[in-house]
Amino acid sequence: MSKVRTVKCPQCGASVQWLPENRFRPFCSERCKQIDLGAWASENYRVPAPSGGEVGDPEHPGDSSTQD
Ligand SMILES: [Zn+2]
Repeated sequence: MSKVRTVKCPQCGASVQWLPENRFRPFCSERCKQIDLGAWASENYRVPAPSGGEVGDPEHPGDSSTQD
């Protein structure tokens, strides 16, 4: 009598039996796993632009048009 733990597939929400032979856990299938990995990868590649540059200099707020 072994109680099989059941989890929900993070991708589609289907019940997945947490078994050693289930290579795709916590996903229900390879497809769901691939979808999630793809989403994670694209998320990871979206790196924020590095700050630094002349965007919004607080010491000189638009001084090019104020001095006349
Ligand atoms: Zn799934």
